[in-house]
Amino acid sequence: MGKKGKRSRRKAVTAAVQASIVAVQTKIEELNVKFEESWHINLSSQAADELREGIQLTQRQLLKHESSSTFRMNLPTWTWFVKSKLIAYSNLMAVEFDRRNFEGAIQIYENLFQKGNIKMKMEILSDVFPSLQLQYHEALLRQGKGNIDTFITLSKVRISYGGKDDNLEGDLFRSANFLRTTKHFDAAIVLGKQLEELNADIEPLATSYLEQYLVEYYPKFGRKIKSLPESFENIFIDMGDAFGNMVEKYNNGGFDTSVDPETLLVLAQWIYLLHQFSSDDKEIMMKKEAIGFIEDYLDLISKVETHCRTCTQTATESEVQLVCSGCRVACYCSIDHQRMTWKKEAVKGMRFGHEVLCPVMKAYRKWRHANHNGDHERVSRLRRRFERECLYLLSDGMGLKDKCFKK
Ligand SMILES: [Zn+2]
Ligand SMILES: [Zn+2]
Repeated sequence: MGKKGKRSRRKAVTAAVQASIVAVQTKIEELNVKFEESWHINLSSQAADELREGIQLTQRQLLKHESSSTFRMNLPTWTWFVKSKLIAYSNLMAVEFDRRNFEGAIQIYENLFQKGNIKMKMEILSDVFPSLQLQYHEALLRQGKGNIDTFITLSKVRISYGGKDDNLEGDLFRSANFLRTTKHFDAAIVLGKQLEELNADIEPLATSYLEQYLVEYYPKFGRKIKSLPESFENIFIDMGDAFGNMVEKYNNGGFDTSVDPETLLVLAQWIYLLHQFSSDDKEIMMKKEAIGFIEDYLDLISKVETHCRTCTQTATESEVQLVCSGCRVACYCSIDHQRMTWKKEAVKGMRFGHEVLCPVMKAYRKWRHANHNGDHERVSRLRRRFERECLYLLSDGMGLKDKCFKK
């Protein structure tokens, strides 16, 4: 039956509609190739332009036929056009998020819902819709509009939309990051648990626990505590398991390029936090381990050192890239993006901004340089300097200094 059904459906499509399908399909394939390339070399503004063209082409082809009743009657063909358009919207949204163009992301969603551009039911039933909706609300909040409760509700029910779609994991991961940045830790933990169940990735959950502890509980007790208050023991047991797994995974080399480099900063912070509850002889070892994670982080990001630290775009040959004058390591695609991640709490849901990372990067660059050329005495002096900066970052990062370490 299947074959026959397909053949008769195809017959109902006129030659003109067929030509439109081919035109859209060709554009989609072309875009897919370019999209992949852009992803790798991170020329996302170019990808965004191309995707906008793709959307317009699909829209033009759709309008051409929509007045014809045979076309409207042919639901599979009509659906195909709408789906193609939505996927292009979804890819465009991803690109705009990547380059942190949140005003652009808001525009994309609002354009989609402009009169005449949408057949409500179709879009809302599509599995692309909840993803677009969630990103729209995050973009609104990032632009100082929107409502956090709406966003939290949408993020919590995101997983319940008709099974596992392509965007689900990315949406949960990004939303958890955003919720941590805005200190909605309980909501971030809900998403972290969903992700752990989905793909056994414990990083978002572990990070949420850690940040919640550091921001909400730690300031109440500060350095005074040598053991944990009873009520937080369960959190620490959960966290201990989650972080223990992360460290183990990392030490077994199961981590490398696929992981967010910032995860290493989370591990460093966790180890550093633990040293306060450990015996004196273990303390030195733990500090060393924490510094080791920071070093691994710096090595990892040095592999992509020409990428903007804010949006990961890299400059083309003709473009000038901005380099931080403090550390002479961090690069930026624009002055806006340099400002965006300077302050604390600005980096990807982490509590580090470049302001606190900058001296560490500078000290590391100097030590590495000396290590290649310098004399022994100078190398060890610079190494001590780097380690001091690391410990300062660990005690001063993640918003701890003001609340806990009253100097
Ligand atoms: Zn940038
Ligand atoms: Zn810097």
